[in-house]
Amino acid sequence: ATPTAVMVGTGVGATNGILIKGGDALERCANVGVVVFDKTGTLTRGKPMVTGHQVFTDLSQDHSLHSFLSIAAAAEAGSQHPLAGAVKDYAAAMLQGSKSPSKEDGAAQMPELASATQQTDIPGQGVKCMVAGAAVLVGNKKLMEEGGATISPQAEEYVNDVISRARTVLLVAVRGEVVGGIAVSDPVKPEAGGVVARLNQMKIESILVTGDNWGTANAIAGELGIDKVMAEVSPGGKAAKLRELQDGKGVRFNQNRKTTVAMVGDGVNDSPALAAADVGIALGAGTDVAIEAADYVLVRNDLEGVLTALHLSRTVFRRIR
Ligand code: ADP
Ligand code: MG
Repeated sequence: ATPTAVMVGTGVGATNGILIKGGDALERCANVGVVVFDKTGTLTRGKPMVTGHQVFTDLSQDHSLHSFLSIAAAAEAGSQHPLAGAVKDYAAAMLQGSKSPSKEDGAAQMPELASATQQTDIPGQGVKCMVAGAAVLVGNKKLMEEGGATISPQAEEYVNDVISRARTVLLVAVRGEVVGGIAVSDPVKPEAGGVVARLNQMKIESILVTGDNWGTANAIAGELGIDKVMAEVSPGGKAAKLRELQDGKGVRFNQNRKTTVAMVGDGVNDSPALAAADVGIALGAGTDVAIEAADYVLVRNDLEGVLTALHLSRTVFRRIR
């Protein structure tokens, strides 16, 4: 394509809410064979909401609903993760609601809001901290396993039930025992399924990559018609997975041949993969690091922008020559 065609392409992109950082990326986009989508905040809306919780073990005689939720909220207080926000909002609403004066137990008997010390974020897993002298973990099964917390059969059952409904499950462990679970829903974006279907028609494979658990990831992929899932991927692991796909390992079409791979993502976790991809596509609402690492920015946060980008580069580099 001539420099003029590239300029026109970039301009057309801009009017359609797609920022293109240079002609090279525009050119590579015409040959994309695989699109890797991050789950949270990319395929899903990224505004998780707690839909319910279950307490498995009473911690003490006054271990009520209140103290379970206040422990969870305290642990998440220092975390910036979207899931942390969901837990805090839910706990605040529930604790507030339960404070309305009832017959027997006055507000005075309600447990105080807990507060956490030594809070540490463990990326891709959750948080750990101390609450009232007890070690507390809030996060996924991996965090429980690595933190040496026992997961009872009842807890296992809860986990399986929650993930079969395409929800994310958070477990709360106190003193090495999983005492309860929290279910979080993050609905898929309305356009996501249509974009996957269209890519499929174009013989472009869609792949879902996430740090979330296999069950939830599979359920979301099933909802969207995505066949290939890479779940429980550590933050550092996304870029490595991407490089394998570029070598044609595990792809559906043209296996073991050099494959042009696009990555669509929004998070800090996605930035190494966005940089490693042949075409990195960040959502405009994504974190600054993701936007920095990407070749394309979907200013309107609409996944249809992925299709627009592909069509645009195909037009510039195949038809106008
Ligand atoms: P994704 O790759 O889907 O964007 P992340 O890598 O950010 O997800 O997180 C992966 C998983 O780690 C989450 O699904 C959750 O189970 C757990 N996790 C991460 N941060 C937290 C937190 N602050 N509280 C609870 N769980 C967390
Ligand atoms: Mg994300």
